[in-house]
Amino acid sequence: MQEDLGEVQQEFGVGSGPIYEVAEVQATLEELKIVQQFIERIRNASLDADCLPTDVIEKLRDPPTTVFNLDDHEGLRTAIKLFIASETASEEVFNKSRNIFNDAMERQLGDNFEALPSLYVVKERIKEITGVYPLMHDMCPNTCMAYTGPFSELDSCTKCSTPRYNPEVLATSGGIRKVPQRRFVTLPIGPQLQAIWRTPEGARNM
Ligand SMILES: [Zn+2]
Repeated sequence: MQEDLGEVQQEFGVGSGPIYEVAEVQATLEELKIVQQFIERIRNASLDADCLPTDVIEKLRDPPTTVFNLDDHEGLRTAIKLFIASETASEEVFNKSRNIFNDAMERQLGDNFEALPSLYVVKERIKEITGVYPLMHDMCPNTCMAYTGPFSELDSCTKCSTPRYNPEVLATSGGIRKVPQRRFVTLPIGPQLQAIWRTPEGARNM
């Protein structure tokens, strides 16, 4: 059987080794070349070469081992609840609700209460506490492709040729301001697993 395998490998010019290494042959068709480039990037993927912020990678390698307690952060707790409750609402709705709450509390208690933080602060605190950071990537406005991997340096879509960046902004700034026409969010799985693992209940349910 081994001899037969060797003959097949010789035929494909890949030398000895398991037959799945046939993929080492360099593709000549354009689409296969791109697939091969993606495979190569996945093979060589490492946290050091990742686009996660340094502090997120540090947290991933050395995650917090204590449960974050919101009991000492009543304003933040309420703001996170409001943030979750207004998930489908606009930023304006959150901020107006927050202002109404802060005004009412101030009238009743003066300075003796913890004001609700802004939406920006809430999001930043959630990132800090959970270690879960969103990764933003550019994409074609027509959803044909994402500008990642071998496409990360391209300026237009390989399928529909739509420009990656807003052409008006690009033109009026003399080609300096590159504002993506559309972006998408990725939430990496590593920090999510660490966040779940951080509480006894989460760890038990994994
Ligand atoms: Zn496109």
